[in-house]
Amino acid sequence: MNPKWNGQFSCFDLVAKTRECSRSVVQVRDIEIGGSDFVVMAGPCAVESEDQLVRTAEAVSKAGARILRGGAYKPRSSPYAFQGMGLEGLKLLCKARKETGLAIVTEVMSEEDVDLIAEYADIMQVGTRSMENYALLEALGECGRPVLLKRGMTATLEELLRSAQVIAMAGNPQVILCERGIRTFETATRNTLDIAAVPVLKAVSHLPVIVDPSHAAGVRSLVPVLSRAAAVVGADGLLVEVHPVPEKAMSDGNQSLTFDEFRDMMDDLHPYLDLQHESRTLRPQLLAAGGAD
Ligand code: PEP
Ligand code: MN
Repeated sequence: MNPKWNGQFSCFDLVAKTRECSRSVVQVRDIEIGGSDFVVMAGPCAVESEDQLVRTAEAVSKAGARILRGGAYKPRSSPYAFQGMGLEGLKLLCKARKETGLAIVTEVMSEEDVDLIAEYADIMQVGTRSMENYALLEALGECGRPVLLKRGMTATLEELLRSAQVIAMAGNPQVILCERGIRTFETATRNTLDIAAVPVLKAVSHLPVIVDPSHAAGVRSLVPVLSRAAAVVGADGLLVEVHPVPEKAMSDGNQSLTFDEFRDMMDDLHPYLDLQHESRTLRPQLLAAGGAD
């Protein structure tokens, strides 16, 4: 264990693991996040059109996802990039929910949009760029919806828990933590997936923890293997980008899976999820009498 980490972040009482509360379950419609199910949220980075969204919703639902993701309000690195469909996008998300039964997670960037987005979304997503927007976090305390809180790209786990505590203190204990990769000196991937964040957060907090392999990887070829890693280290689920034609996506096409790739990834996850529940023994080779040379 890292000697710098003392095993607990003691000042975050509302989100800290205690003897009385070691695990909390966030209920979203009939879905339990943080319970025994591994919950996959999938869909496009951004809502682009009815056809794009409904086709994606049907495909990810068929492959086993329970929640549809899709940004209607997009925080973009460039001010010239597509900023999202806004209210029109929220309406399309509701249409897709009605047609597939999937719950909806979508991003909220400003406290002024909280009430409007809460009317449409089942889960309010706080993006990496907003993790320390305290006005937004406080407004989410009163929104009556669960919050998916993404780790800031340069935030420590202690800072992530501090933001979760702000939401809980403002009145909303329904928080899901999301590891989505952090900035490091490494440039081979878009961000560095801090896989250790999952067991560390699980050790100190009762909140559910999910992993976003798409924004960590930045390229679709790495998404399945990072998802398998998330399953093995005990994540409660995934947030994955999927697009009908990734090459034509208006944002994050490079890291979006096709429908077939998503279905294959979901199929391949099963043995890795089973590893969580089996007790396994590592049997070393016994040395012959007298020892080896
Ligand atoms: C997203 O989920 O599309 C997104 C913008 O994520 P992040 O905030 O992690 O960059
Ligand atoms: Mn994205």
